[in-house]
Amino acid sequence: MKAIVVRAGKASLEEVELKEELGRGMVRVRTLYNGICGTDRGIVSGSLKFSRPPQGFDYLVLGHETLGEVQEVGEGVNLRKGDLVVPVVRRGCGECLNCLVGRQDFCETGKFTEIGIRGAHGTMRETFVDYAENLVVLPRELGEYGVLLEPLSNVVKAVREVEYLQGRSLWRCRDSTYSCRDAAIIGSGPIGLLFSMALKTMGFNVYVLNRRPPSEVEKDITEAVGARFVDTTKEVAPLPGPDLLVDTSGHPSAFVPLLDRIKKNGAVILFGTTGKEREEITAEQVTELVENNVLLVGSVNASKEDFREGGNLLTLWKEEYPDVLGKMITHKVSPGEAVNVLSGKLKGEIKTVVDWTNG
Ligand SMILES: [Zn+2]
Repeated sequence: MKAIVVRAGKASLEEVELKEELGRGMVRVRTLYNGICGTDRGIVSGSLKFSRPPQGFDYLVLGHETLGEVQEVGEGVNLRKGDLVVPVVRRGCGECLNCLVGRQDFCETGKFTEIGIRGAHGTMRETFVDYAENLVVLPRELGEYGVLLEPLSNVVKAVREVEYLQGRSLWRCRDSTYSCRDAAIIGSGPIGLLFSMALKTMGFNVYVLNRRPPSEVEKDITEAVGARFVDTTKEVAPLPGPDLLVDTSGHPSAFVPLLDRIKKNGAVILFGTTGKEREEITAEQVTELVENNVLLVGSVNASKEDFREGGNLLTLWKEEYPDVLGKMITHKVSPGEAVNVLSGKLKGEIKTVVDWTNG
């Protein structure tokens, strides 16, 4: 079958032979769409050092953002041909307690694998076989928007963590939502925009921060969901400071200067990685963080439960913001074109997806 592979730091579309048998509890899935993200590009460029092929292979099939359709079911599987499915990315180590209860996003041994990233082939290929228990089923009506579920699942996990941890004080507002709280999100890529939608749905007043004016699509999406785009080269916002700061950039120079402006009992989610800039944290800032009970939490990956919750949000948003999910998918490319797109962002890109439906 055709697959997009990385071999010795170079991406290509190749014919590969993977002996995948349809065992008990397993499903053969036809890939419909793959999202391309910074992780894929980091693997191709070599900047993500932890990426590795599965044992016994000199190449890795890319692809961890997936939307597929069930093609064939093995014995003992409660899925039907044609079901829309999304596979979870991380597969447990089989040793630590978190992995043994399906929370491999909190694996403690580090011996997990991640499809299309480390130690396991991904889904940028015509078909793949997986255990049904690794698949999340989506309503048919969601259609291609389901390709956004994997990035969204990571956002859902991070937000749920903050809700759990913020149970340390009374953080909800008098109307039981977060309508009295301000959230500032650094970065307006797909993850930043998904955070803005998720937090808006919870009631937050949302500000999306970037060091430039919004693109047309970013302007449309933030306006449609009722968030405010702030060009931080022109205005410093929000004042006097957010209750929740989310960094999706990975650039310390973007979020460190904002740390001492977080409101009392507020929280910071660090989500971005692989930024290159350095920034000093001063003792005065540390004092502010301490004196204000500020929570700092790093968050990665997601559980199947987070995928399921993400599916609910996509279904809700499709109704609530009819044009927004469609606008998030700014480009569709063929598997052949994808190889080039993996080496750099397209102009005006929010999410580029690889379209396998014409194959
Ligand atoms: Zn583990």
